[in-house]
Amino acid sequence: MTGERYDLAVVGGGIMGCAAAIHACGGGLNTIVIEQGAIGSGASGVNAGTLSLQIKRLKLMPYALKSHAIWREAGKAVGFRRIGGYTLAFTEREAEFLTERMALKREAGAPIRMVSLNEVADKEPGLSRSVVAASYCEEDGDANSSLMGVYYRHMLREAGVAFRERDGVMDITREKGDFVLRAKSGTIRAKRLLLAAGAWLGDLLPMLGSHLPITVRVNTVSVTEPGPPVIGSIIGHATGLLSLKQKSNGCILIGGGWQGTGRPAQGRGEVNANTLLTNLRLARHVAPGIANRRLLRSWTGYEAHVPDFYPLAGRLPGVENAFVLGCVRGGFTIGPYIGRLMGDLILGREPELPLFDPARFAPGSSNSTNQH
Ligand SMILES: Cc1cc2nc3c(=O)[nH]c(=O)nc-3n(C[C@H](O)[C@H](O)[C@H](O)COP(=O)(O)OP(=O)(O)OC[C@H]3O[C@@H](n4cnc5c(N)ncnc54)[C@H](O)[C@@H]3O)c2cc1C
Repeated sequence: MTGERYDLAVVGGGIMGCAAAIHACGGGLNTIVIEQGAIGSGASGVNAGTLSLQIKRLKLMPYALKSHAIWREAGKAVGFRRIGGYTLAFTEREAEFLTERMALKREAGAPIRMVSLNEVADKEPGLSRSVVAASYCEEDGDANSSLMGVYYRHMLREAGVAFRERDGVMDITREKGDFVLRAKSGTIRAKRLLLAAGAWLGDLLPMLGSHLPITVRVNTVSVTEPGPPVIGSIIGHATGLLSLKQKSNGCILIGGGWQGTGRPAQGRGEVNANTLLTNLRLARHVAPGIANRRLLRSWTGYEAHVPDFYPLAGRLPGVENAFVLGCVRGGFTIGPYIGRLMGDLILGREPELPLFDPARFAPGSSNSTNQH
């Protein structure tokens, strides 16, 4: 069989695939990224753009801290802003939960502190007066996910990574130790393979005889029309069910992981009117000034996860020279750094921080029995 041959083929041109490909190529591997849509057209290009340490799980904090430094370096090209963030509690129970969680996150290295209600009212006068407790992190900020395509296309070119867009991989087989990828534009052969196909991982893994317990979520984000300042920092809710930020053009982005409907194979999914309304009511409760804004658009994107909500990042169990990277909660924040770690693993180097071995879900692993 003919076809181009690479040291590494990466399936999926989201933040994970691109970051890993750039690092692996920098380490000397002739690398190609194959993307079924456009680079950054999956979750990486439609997410809410929040870069928050306050909403990260404890174990992921060191990864998020390292990744924040990479975002800062990328700066203007990704619309990075370090504008600080408040997380708010509205009941005594939420306040207790917030105080406990933030203390643990502070211990894990995040510069988070509980703040007085006067400080909140002073710094963010557009917020509701019914706040009971609040935490603050000066490191929190955001980036513009709609710039991901332009940014990573540029970075791939600079690094010398080959890439193909609108070229979905339909089949993967093995021949004489190589992976043979049948894509729309023809066949690609590679010695190593990284599956970084986000919510579509579940469709690709069976091509290699692999099955991991991947579930897909359909997250919703909305944007209002532009207007005068209402909030100046990243605003979150203690329950994690809300994220709010006002962009420099005056539009307000509203997220919080409210669920739409659909499946990755069907396109982008649909907004669910009921969950959207609840999301918007919560936003209005937290920042009453939003009430006068018209909503310009709501959309959904797919995010994958596994039962323990930690990343799948490591060797693909049972398939030599194959790797998988995905299911990273808050993957926009952590992507640039965990992608580099993945690149190191593929290069045969010891990653600076441990990855999250997918073998924990392989049949026979002690974890797999209670994870399914
Ligand atoms: C609506 C929404 C809001 C979010 N908000 C935040 C947030 O505010 N902060 C945060 O940190 N995280 C957020 N996330 C999570 C974050 O966006 C994701 O964790 C991250 O972008 C995942 O990156 P990825 O590269 O794994 O996946 P993706 O970006 O989805 O990339 C996977 C790519 O693989 C391609 N692909 C799939 N199958 C094939 C195939 N057969 N052949 C070729 N290509 C293929 C897809 O087209 C896609 O482009 C949000 C997610 C969503 C959906």
